[in-house]
Amino acid sequence: KFSPILPAANPPAWLGVMGGGQLGRMFAQAAQAMGYQVAVLEPSDACPAGQVAQRLVNAGYSDAAGLDALAAQCAAVTTEFENVPADSLSRLAQSVFVAPDAHGVSVAQDRIAEKRFFVGCAPKSGVLPAPHKVIASQADIDAIEDDLLPGILKTVRMGYDGKGQVRVKSRADVQAAFESMDKVTCLLEKMLPLAYEVSVLTARGHDGESVVYPIAENVHRDGILFTTTVPGPNVSDESALKAQQAAQAIVAELGYVGVLCIEFFVLTDGSLVVNEMAPRPHNSGHYTMDACVTSQFAQQVRAMARLPLGDVRQHSPAVMLNILGDVWFTDDTDATREPAWHEILALPGANLHLYGKDDPRRARKMGHLTFVAPTLAQAQQQLNAACAILG
Ligand code: ADP
Ligand code: MG
Repeated sequence: KFSPILPAANPPAWLGVMGGGQLGRMFAQAAQAMGYQVAVLEPSDACPAGQVAQRLVNAGYSDAAGLDALAAQCAAVTTEFENVPADSLSRLAQSVFVAPDAHGVSVAQDRIAEKRFFVGCAPKSGVLPAPHKVIASQADIDAIEDDLLPGILKTVRMGYDGKGQVRVKSRADVQAAFESMDKVTCLLEKMLPLAYEVSVLTARGHDGESVVYPIAENVHRDGILFTTTVPGPNVSDESALKAQQAAQAIVAELGYVGVLCIEFFVLTDGSLVVNEMAPRPHNSGHYTMDACVTSQFAQQVRAMARLPLGDVRQHSPAVMLNILGDVWFTDDTDATREPAWHEILALPGANLHLYGKDDPRRARKMGHLTFVAPTLAQAQQQLNAACAILG
C-alpha cells in the first residue's frame, strides 16, 4: 500500500490519545518529556492519563463533538485502548493522521478477524495460531471435533486479562459456558501444552521502516500478567529470532503504523504459536522504560509524529513485576494499607511506576516495578525480595 510521506509533527505540537488509562498516562509523560502537548479523550473524568495531560476531552469514545475537538487540536492521534470503536478512528482520520489506523485496530480487537489474519499471514510469518472454531450457535457446538477439546472458550470481543474466558473439557462444558456468556459469539481454542509464553514488541513507521525489541518472557497469574523477564530465561536464540521475524512480517502485512505487541506461545515440543496482538504499547513492554534506549511510549510518539524510530537496544537485564491492588490488602477484610515503598525502593535497581489510581481493588493494575541490574540473576533476586515485602 502506498501512502504519501507526511512531514514530521515536531514539538510543541499536540498529540492526541484515545483512552485515559495507565498506557495513556505513560504515553503522555513520554510525549511531554519530548516537548509535545497531549490531549486525552476519555469518558471518565478521574483517569490516570487525564491527571497528566494538558487537556482532557471528557467525551465518549464515539462522541462526534469530542472526536472532532481532538482532531482539530492535534497533529496526530493514537490509541491506548484496544477496544476504541474503529469507526471513531476512521472519523478522526478524515482530518488528522491516526496511528494505528482503524484497520489494524479492528483486526486486533476481534478474535475471529485476528485469527483469520494470522492464518492468512502464515506463509510470510511462518507461524500459525492455535486450532480454533467460531462458536455462534448450537449447531456450532454440535459440530465441535474431538481434537479441539479440552479447550478455552473466549469471547470474540472485549476480552482482556483472562476475562471472558472459560476452560472447557466437553461439548456440554462449551454449551454451559456459551450460555453463561449470554450466547455472544465466541471462539473455541484448543488448549495447547505451553512450555512458556513470550511477547515481541515492534514499532513501524509510516515510511514502512520497522524495529523489533528483544523478546520478552511472560508469566501470567490468574490470567493477568505477573512478571516479564528480558532476556527470557527459557528463550532459545532460535525461537527468539523466529518470533521477531514473525512479528515484523505481521506488522508489515497489516500496513501498521505505531507500536504493536504480539503474544506467542512456545509449546513443549519447542514449536511457536501466535496467540494475539495488542495495537498499542503493552504491559510486557513496560521494562523498556527503564532498560532500553527508547521506551515503548517514546517509540509510539516517534511513530505517530513521523519521526525516525528510536534505538531498541536493551542496556540492562530487567524484570518487571505488575503491582495489583491486592497488595494494599493484608487479609480478607476491606482494610487497606499503603505498601512499604520505602523498603521496596531501598532495593538496588528498583524503578517504581504508579498510575495515580487512588482506589486499590483486587486484580486492578495499580502500577509496576522494574528491576534492572548488571546481571539477570541480580535483577531476579531483587524482584524476589520485592515480592517478599509486598506479601
Ligand atoms: P487475554 O486477552 O485475556 O490476554 P489470551 O488469549 O492472551 O487472552 O489468554 C490469556 C492467557 O490464557 C494466555 O496468556 C495463556 O496463559 C492462556 N491461554 C490462552 N489461550 C490458550 C491456549 N489455546 N492454550 C493454552 N493456554 C492458553
Ligand atoms: Mg493475552
